[in-house]
Amino acid sequence: MTNMKKIIFASRNKGKIREVISILKDINIEIQSLLDYPDMPEIEETGSTFEENARLKAYAVYNKYKIPVIADDSGISLQQLGGRPGVFSARYAGKNATDEENNLKLIGELKVFPEPHPAKYICVAVFFDGKEFYISYGELKGQIIKTPAGIYGFGYDPYFVADGYNITTAQMDPEVKNKISHRFKAFDALKIILKNHKE
Ligand code: IMP
Repeated sequence: MTNMKKIIFASRNKGKIREVISILKDINIEIQSLLDYPDMPEIEETGSTFEENARLKAYAVYNKYKIPVIADDSGISLQQLGGRPGVFSARYAGKNATDEENNLKLIGELKVFPEPHPAKYICVAVFFDGKEFYISYGELKGQIIKTPAGIYGFGYDPYFVADGYNITTAQMDPEVKNKISHRFKAFDALKIILKNHKE
């Protein structure tokens, strides 16, 4: 039996886990997630940037299990809202807010601004091997629309139309979203590092 290398993706978000496993599927590394480690306590995202939050998630998980970790922090940022929701994307309408509550808050706030509502998804991905942090960045530009559409994806996807498309990222075949997304760009760059990494 081969002794396949293992890394933990520091997330419990099923949508993100699905995307990251698919992006990294052709590297010869077993990717687990925090769904495999239910005893890992909730990690407070106290950082003020995506990078800080991604680093602190990776560090906390490595410290507990001593297994190399990949982590990300991502969100959506709107110029009309001074960069918000930004690092607060997952909890924009409050701690434990649902996607729907976050979306309703965002759409409500945008009512006073003229269309279009330019937006960008941002993802910072981190690999921490216990010694060094490797960081990569990805973004996907687009706009927020008023009327939701689509059943795929998660989070703000039903309201987000990427530049060059006329459907939301929730209407996109997940395979297609996975080739253009902020997470794809960040993790695809990290993939090269993971492939060449020596313990
Ligand atoms: P994180 O788990 O702290 O990175 O929070 C990410 C949050 O940003 C998610 O809960 C979503 O609200 C939003 N988000 C990030 N990436 C996406 C995406 O690809 N589609 C939709 N929403 C996203």
